Amino acid sequence: MTGLSAGAAPPMTRALLAWWEVHGRKDHALKPWMFTKNGRWPEPHEHLDVLQCWIAEVMLQQTQLSVVLPYWERWMAVFPTLDALAAASLEQVRLQWQGLGYYSRARRLHEAAQLLLGRPWPRTLAGWMALPGIGRTTAGSILSSSFNLRLPILDGNVKRVLARLTAHPRPPARDAAMFWFWSEALLDPLRPRDTNQALMDLGATVCTPRNPDCGRCPWQSSCAAYAAGDPTSWPMSDAQKPLPFQVICVGVVFNAQGELLIDQRLEKGLLGGLWEFPGGKLEEGETIETCIARELQEELGIAVTVGAELITVDHAYSHKKLRFVVHLCTWVSGDPQPLASQQVRWVRPEELKNFPFPAANARIIEALLGSLG
Ligand code: SF4
Repeated sequence: MTGLSAGAAPPMTRALLAWWEVHGRKDHALKPWMFTKNGRWPEPHEHLDVLQCWIAEVMLQQTQLSVVLPYWERWMAVFPTLDALAAASLEQVRLQWQGLGYYSRARRLHEAAQLLLGRPWPRTLAGWMALPGIGRTTAGSILSSSFNLRLPILDGNVKRVLARLTAHPRPPARDAAMFWFWSEALLDPLRPRDTNQALMDLGATVCTPRNPDCGRCPWQSSCAAYAAGDPTSWPMSDAQKPLPFQVICVGVVFNAQGELLIDQRLEKGLLGGLWEFPGGKLEEGETIETCIARELQEELGIAVTVGAELITVDHAYSHKKLRFVVHLCTWVSGDPQPLASQQVRWVRPEELKNFPFPAANARIIEALLGSLG
């Protein structure tokens, strides 16, 4: 990349920071964890609250700023100190995370809080990366945000901006070392915190995935993708296969007392430890009704009568698309057993809010409560 070498801040960084001073998301209402206790953007020598930066960075790992903000505010109100987080149960932690997705992040945050208890905050990349759920970008973000340490970041926004700036001919993941070098070379030696924030803000607000606003970009004159005339051709990606699609048949089972059956997923794997309504994959040649009856027999050891459809919910994960077809059912016989889950419970509809459910199940609950009036 032209103009990037270690040492003093390159002219490109100066242009970036000048743009950011005017147009960056330096707003207390957007990133409260980036401000001092008295509400100022920190000077280079000032430190920020590490707990607040850490929680924000983990929430931001796969989620946009606007989505994260209300979760972060609620989280900090419930767990304002490391002690409070470490002392909470995993269930309480999951409940605060509910809706943010990628639930293993919540479990790892909780584990990391217990490991950090009684120790000073780590001041090195290695110290943070030794904790569960913390990679190099998250560690660099936490340390540059809270202590203004000179450490680069390489999240999706930064990768995209750098890939366009250089019109890099291969997917960033294949040349990670080169991208890390570029990100580091861009850091202003005195203002790494501000440089990282400016890079993220540029990626999130100007050099966006589908509509880069090159006319407002401080790097337009040095950008190879802009010069090529089609910035959205970068970053290059390996050809992607279509996501696998599955139909999941779900039973909302009532007993004679008006209680509902829910089960807690096994701890390992996607959505581990969350609660859900029982069900499973539709097999070839099955109807939805026979699938539900079979799954409930196999996974809970119960027989049910399958009634009317409650709702169909489509949900896309990063690696597959699922369609949940949900039917109301009536329990007939058999004591429910956790044959494929951690535990099963009969609960009253109004108690559902006390259990953390994945996003697709939250829509099922909404439809259910609506149908019960
Ligand atoms: S000029 Fe356009 S493509 Fe290049 S970095 Fe700026 S916004 Fe992105």
